[in-house]
Amino acid sequence: MLTDNHGRKINYVRLAVTDRCNLRCFYCMPEEGIDWLARTELMSYEEMLRICSLLVSMGIEKIRITGGEPFVRKDILQLLTALSKLPGLQHLTLTTNGVLTAPHVPELKKIGVRSVNLSMDTLDRNRFFSITRRDELPAVIETLEQLLRHDIEVKINAVVMDRRNIEDIIPLVQLTKELPVSVRFIEEMPFNGEGNHYDHLHWHYMRIHRKIEEAFPDIQKLPDPPHSTAYNYHIPGHKGNIGIIAAYSRTFCGTCNRIRLTPQGMLKTCLYDEGVLNVKDLMRNGLANDAIAAQLITAIQHRAINGFEAERLRKEKKSAHESMATIGG
Ligand code: SAM
Ligand code: SF4
Repeated sequence: MLTDNHGRKINYVRLAVTDRCNLRCFYCMPEEGIDWLARTELMSYEEMLRICSLLVSMGIEKIRITGGEPFVRKDILQLLTALSKLPGLQHLTLTTNGVLTAPHVPELKKIGVRSVNLSMDTLDRNRFFSITRRDELPAVIETLEQLLRHDIEVKINAVVMDRRNIEDIIPLVQLTKELPVSVRFIEEMPFNGEGNHYDHLHWHYMRIHRKIEEAFPDIQKLPDPPHSTAYNYHIPGHKGNIGIIAAYSRTFCGTCNRIRLTPQGMLKTCLYDEGVLNVKDLMRNGLANDAIAAQLITAIQHRAINGFEAERLRKEKKSAHESMATIGG
């Protein structure tokens, strides 16, 4: 079992398989994209499989594939299939924007993926275009339908953005009336790849909650599962649930059980740190698994207590501003 220096069990890794994407969500990257990593800088599938296998042998029970957009990396199903066979791995899941995902849903089901996080900030085609700079909402909805048809649990991620999709909050909540989905509203974080960000958050978790409560006064608080990043709610009579994720306010650090691997193999022990160990370099320098495991344990033993400390400890003293596509969300 992996435990950090603050006594938190670490059993969950989020692996970003690419920084590339077929959307250009304005809160994640500029219109022209970011300086994409060269192919040689990306971990190969063999390297990803090796490091994941090592991490699972050390106590990781859950792997989430993310990006960039996982389905723009060629043959991603090969990696997912290989990961699904790792002995000891209990959950394999992924986060996707849903543009290319629908045709792969039967295969995801076959290899044992039981839940998927689907990003959908709006149900309105024009607003979708203005947020993502691409006209792809119908493909995302097709993915939602495919996932439900295959009985795969769906969590819909919606970033809440001032003057962009506030009018979508209530329609997204209403989705949970007929659909057994969990709609999670996420505070916007400063990772837009541009370095410019407003100095205070307009839509923090309490304001989002107030807005929902005004329309649904009988909203009920649900118990939050251990390690949940969301405050969870239910509206009586609805099939699905609501979550609110205070990603900017960082209220969930005390029970954080996750680490991240970026596409270039950088280990992040906090979303807000700048990367603490390059595991791709260790593998390419010929280190054996035991030596890599020892360095992973050291890194996990030096984990910041929360996202504010991690941000303060960044060597580059600028606040965190990279693109979320290189972090993985
Ligand atoms: N491309 C995939 C997708 O969009 O689902 C996976 C990667 S994306 C970086 C993972 C999650 O991070 C998405 O749900 C996205 O909405 C969220 N995200 C990206 N930038 C964000 C930001 N600045 N603040 C909050 N969430 C963000
Ligand atoms: Fe792409 Fe996901 Fe970033 Fe949007 S949030 S640009 S879909 S990586």
